[in-house]
Amino acid sequence: MKIPFLDLKSAHEELRKDLQKAYDRVLESGSYILGKEVEQFEEEFSEYCQVSHSVGVGNGLDALHLILRAFGIGAGDEVIVPSNTYIATWLAVSYSGATPVPVEPDLATYNIDPMKVELAITSRTKAIIVVHLYGQPADMDPISVIAKKHGIKVIEDAAQAHGARYKGRRVGGLGDAAGFSFYPGKNLGAIGDGGAVTTNDADLADRVRMLCNYGSHIKYHNEVKGFNSRLDELQAAILRVKLENLDQWNLRRAEIAARYLKELSGGKFLTPVVPDWAEPVWHLFVVRHVDRDLLHKILNSNGIGVLIHYPIPPHLQGAYTDLGHVKGSFPISELIHDEVLSLPIGPHISAQQLAMVIKEVRKAN
Ligand SMILES: *Cc1c(COP(=O)(O)O)cnc(C)c1O
Repeated sequence: MKIPFLDLKSAHEELRKDLQKAYDRVLESGSYILGKEVEQFEEEFSEYCQVSHSVGVGNGLDALHLILRAFGIGAGDEVIVPSNTYIATWLAVSYSGATPVPVEPDLATYNIDPMKVELAITSRTKAIIVVHLYGQPADMDPISVIAKKHGIKVIEDAAQAHGARYKGRRVGGLGDAAGFSFYPGKNLGAIGDGGAVTTNDADLADRVRMLCNYGSHIKYHNEVKGFNSRLDELQAAILRVKLENLDQWNLRRAEIAARYLKELSGGKFLTPVVPDWAEPVWHLFVVRHVDRDLLHKILNSNGIGVLIHYPIPPHLQGAYTDLGHVKGSFPISELIHDEVLSLPIGPHISAQQLAMVIKEVRKAN
C-alpha cells in the first residue's frame, strides 16, 4: 500500500459536483478577471477570517509583497522575519527592496520568539512579518505590544493557517494586515495559484487593490507603477466551494493530529507542542527525530509519503548569500531544519492508511 503525503484528487472528488457547477458558472459568465466570483469570495473570506476587508491576489508571496508596498516599505528599510520559515516570507521583503532581518524561533513551537524580536529592532525597522508556521498561530500579544511601542507594523503570513485561532480569534485579523496563499496544497487551496490580503484597515485594502491591478482604481488611469497580481474568477469560484468545507476538513486534520500525538509521544520523537491559547489547523504535522535523514529514507522506501519542511533554512540558501549569514548564524533554526519530518495529515487519509503510517513510524520510536 502506497500512502501519498497529500491526496488532492480525493479531496476534489468529494466536492466534484459543486466544483463542476462553479467551473461551468464561470465559463458561461463570459467574465474571467475581477468579476462577481472574486467579489463574492472576498466577502465570504472576510467573514470567515472575522475581518472587514479581503483582496484577492495572484498568490501568497504577492499578498505579502503587496502589503509591504502598500505600507510604503522599501529600499533602506528593515523587516523582521522568522529565521525558520518558507523562503517566500523573506522573498516578499526582498521584492519590496527592504532587507529581511531574521529572528530565531522558540524551539517548542517553531514560531518566532517574541523575547528576541525587540533585540532585532533598529531605527530602520518598519515591520515584522509573523508566520503561523505549520498551521499553529504565533504568540501575537507580546509581539503587538513591542510593535506598538516602536511604531512598526505587524504583518501575518497566514499561508499555512487558514482558520487557526489565537485566544479564540481567527488569524488574518490579528495584526495590521495578513497574507494568505491558496496554493493547491494549503488548507484552503485553489486548482492553481491564488492568494489574498486580509485587513481591518480600509486604506490598506484600497491600496493593495490598486497595486495588484496595474496601479489603477479606474481602468487606464495608472496612479503608480503597479503590478498584475489578481485572483482570477475560476479560482475564486473553486475557492468558494472549498471554503464551505474548510472547517470540516480542518477538523479531520485535528483528529489525525490527536491520534499521532497519542501514538507517538514519549519515545524518540519530539511531537508538536500546542500552547493552551492556540487552536492550530495542522497544515503540517511535524515531528523531530535525531536520525531524521535515515527515517525519511526508510519511510519513503516503504511507501509512506513523508516530506521535510524545510531541508535548508533561508539564510543558508544560495539566494541569500548576499546577506552574509553563515552556518551557525541561526543555530535554533538550523537544528530544526536538520531534524524535522512531516507526516501525512491530509483530510482524505483513510483509517487504514493512518494505521499503516503509525505502525511504520512507531518502529523508529
Ligand atoms: C506557501 C507559502 C507562501 C507562499 O505562497 P504562494 O502562494 O506559493 O506564493 C508564503 N509563506 C508561507 C509560510 C507559505 O507556506
